Amino acid sequence: AIRVRFAPSPTGYLHVGGARTALFNWLLARKTGGTFILRIEDTDVERSTQESVDAILQGMEWLGLDWDEGPFFQSSNFPLYKQYVQQLLDDGKAYRCYCTVEELDAKREQAMKEGRKPKYDGTCRDRDTAPVDRPFVVRFRAPHEGATSFDDQIKGVISFPNEELDDLIIQRSDGTPTYNFCVVIDDAIMKITTVIRGDDHVNNTPRQVQLYEALGFPVPQFAHVPMILGSDKARLSKRHGATSVIAYRDMGFLPEALTNYLVRLGWSHGDDEIFSREEMVAKFDIANVGRSASVFSPDKLLWLNAHYIKTGDPQRLAELLTPFLKERGVDPAAGGPALASAITTLQERARTMIEMADAALFYYIAPVTYDEAGMAKFGQEHLLAVYSAVITKLATSTAATAAEYDLLFKEICTEQSWKMPQVGQPVRIALSGSTQAPGIGEIIATLGREETLQRMEDARR
Ligand code: GLU
Repeated sequence: AIRVRFAPSPTGYLHVGGARTALFNWLLARKTGGTFILRIEDTDVERSTQESVDAILQGMEWLGLDWDEGPFFQSSNFPLYKQYVQQLLDDGKAYRCYCTVEELDAKREQAMKEGRKPKYDGTCRDRDTAPVDRPFVVRFRAPHEGATSFDDQIKGVISFPNEELDDLIIQRSDGTPTYNFCVVIDDAIMKITTVIRGDDHVNNTPRQVQLYEALGFPVPQFAHVPMILGSDKARLSKRHGATSVIAYRDMGFLPEALTNYLVRLGWSHGDDEIFSREEMVAKFDIANVGRSASVFSPDKLLWLNAHYIKTGDPQRLAELLTPFLKERGVDPAAGGPALASAITTLQERARTMIEMADAALFYYIAPVTYDEAGMAKFGQEHLLAVYSAVITKLATSTAATAAEYDLLFKEICTEQSWKMPQVGQPVRIALSGSTQAPGIGEIIATLGREETLQRMEDARR
């Protein structure tokens, strides 16, 4: 059975690139009935923070990327890593290196001067006797002949000549294990079958493959996902706009829109653009992840978001919208129309939850100012005539649905020889303060007759 993992380093928030890696792993697990593991790679104690761990978990939860095992923390595994360092030492597959930083620096400088690629010269590799009482690092005794290859599921066969690979430090002089070593031990212990990660790790992979082999562990499959770029083809970063998953939530994006957007960054299924969760799971295949980098398009994300708002379940949208309204001082549960009903009148136009929250406010807060320019177009006399006619009509009608209210307005137009906009716009302004509001019938059906009459009276004054 497939076992995959997402292994973020908690040195910042959950980045959209990381989220896509997590999504691909999650999809493969869900598609194959496999296991998705969350592993927090916090071996860099200096740069890892609890805040980042929380932010990563929050991002994963918001995107609905649930994990089956974990979160595991590498920092709690130090004794285990030490044990495997010892095993390699005992087997002669690793050695203690006593070279000082100054010695290594001098050698590196010398190599550069002579135009050679700097590489550890193996001074301690073949040392017979160990100096006493000197600090040491542990280096992996890497093969120097031949090549190390792996068949990447996205990039195909990748091969590195072994002479280019250094004797990797696996344990620092303070006794802590290094990153590449921990990853291998963890992936082996967790029985990971497929490592899906960003292709910024391609250069680590041959070293890791050598370590698997030296330790006698089976080598997993690898799938290195190409980077995400900004519009200028540089690696996506803050200067291209928001890169944190939670920032997108706060800007009013729906998790289904962001996951749909991310799955298409690098993966495709024919010409399809819209994928529900179930469709993604059913159709995802690493074989269809492209080899080239993808460009992040805020416009396309916005388009998808508008789609998911338009087609979303109003009840669910209501849950997502509530915090945005509360931020704007409105608690929709405290009075006014049912939020889900208000939402059905706004889904067509809002592209984000922010736009929807702003557009929904008038349902809960009666206008205190009116669109002056909009009103001036009609003249005071006409406005008063419209408001009076509407008030009279509403007071005696039994209309209750949007369609019935629309019919009522048609009657008014016929009776008074007005055109629809001559009535509709003034009433929109009276009820919402602006002309940018849903259809009249919808507004009135949502606000209710009593509130509508109240607002019309207020506007007439
Ligand atoms: N912790 C690494 C990172 O955040 C991921 C390493 C891996 O997936 O093997 O880039």
